[in-house]
Amino acid sequence: MVMVSKEGVVRSHLVGRKVYFVSFVVFTPFVPHNSTALSSIGVTNSHPFQTDDVRLKPIAEKVLARERLNTDDALALYRAGDILAVGWMANHVRERMHGDKAYFNVNRHINPTNVCVAACRLCAFGRKKDTPGSYTMALEEAFETAASGYSEAVTEFHIVGGLHPDLPFQYFLDLISGLKSRFPQVHLKAFTMVEVAYLAKRAKLSIAETLRQLKEAGVDSLPGGGAEIFADRVRHVICDHKIDGSEWLDTARLAHQIGLKSNATMLYGHVENDEDRVDHLMKLRSLQDETNGFQTFIPLAFHPDNTALQHLPKTTGMLDIKQIAVSRLVLDNFPHIKAYWQMMTAKIAQIALRFGADDIDGTVVEEKIYHDAGATTPQGMRRQDLIRLIKEAGREPVERDTLYRPVMRTETSFTVAV
Ligand code: SF4
Repeated sequence: MVMVSKEGVVRSHLVGRKVYFVSFVVFTPFVPHNSTALSSIGVTNSHPFQTDDVRLKPIAEKVLARERLNTDDALALYRAGDILAVGWMANHVRERMHGDKAYFNVNRHINPTNVCVAACRLCAFGRKKDTPGSYTMALEEAFETAASGYSEAVTEFHIVGGLHPDLPFQYFLDLISGLKSRFPQVHLKAFTMVEVAYLAKRAKLSIAETLRQLKEAGVDSLPGGGAEIFADRVRHVICDHKIDGSEWLDTARLAHQIGLKSNATMLYGHVENDEDRVDHLMKLRSLQDETNGFQTFIPLAFHPDNTALQHLPKTTGMLDIKQIAVSRLVLDNFPHIKAYWQMMTAKIAQIALRFGADDIDGTVVEEKIYHDAGATTPQGMRRQDLIRLIKEAGREPVERDTLYRPVMRTETSFTVAV
């Protein structure tokens, strides 16, 4: 049994002049996600597979036989109009792996700076230094931000930001170690592969050494952003200032090799095509075969507002749902597929729980990146709202920590400011 804090202990953190009291959290035994954990739990699809699309029938046979899908299968899934048939298959796999469980966590986003040397066309968050709207948090400010809205005892800080031209690597090491000492029970999921590669370049260190120092400072895992679409053709249009796809994959490989788990993302719904999406999924699947270091795949719907690509239309519900389903079917070695409610709206994320997704993300508290790009979802959601969404989808809510260990709250958490 892993006990993060002792029963009955109430921990306090001094942040500025405020004192925050965080109620304790008890974790149950950890069941690692590996090939065994992917075995059958029980499948509850209530009717047999049916479709008039002849391309989908052989794919369904493969899915039922637990055979790996190939590139042609993945393309056929993207091009199929019968979303219910595609969803049936994805739901079959999802229930085989997780039964009715649907995961969420209680987390908080921290974006230490939006100053960024890159100028990705996909982005509405990054700002040039000293331009209107740019900000960089002093360390104390970041610690205060972490503590604010701390009413539900978060189990995770999700920390990402821009590529700042002047902040030294030591700032990020101090940020992480400062958070870890103030909030020792909170998992620090920090820095995209793009940020790690940039910090390495600025510090004149290898990526492996950069990751090692970040881990030593307290980074527990990596969030998996910045993957966008790996294909060069697309990357040149949407984010040509970033590391390329193979550098992203190499950085993830190095993180996994030193024991840091990560997620992986894909930004869809802009200038990519079906082949680009399939290529992206296949590259992730191949790396996962090698490292088994990915936990969750998170398809991110592109939000064009306030970006250099704002002439593009927003994604549709059909594409959002299909992206979840195809991801579940192709990424047979990824334990989890997340329907990130901030990106696809809570309503679509809820439906996605029956189309292959087993995770709906967390409370978030204060999301900036997609709201700068026009997201109209709330900036955060309460734990009880997430539970209601999941229950109404006919699923069983399971609060998890970042490593998918179930969290059981034994009392209502609280905040006291003095
Ligand atoms: S997407 Fe990231 S790297 Fe690109 S401009 Fe925005 S913050 Fe900078």
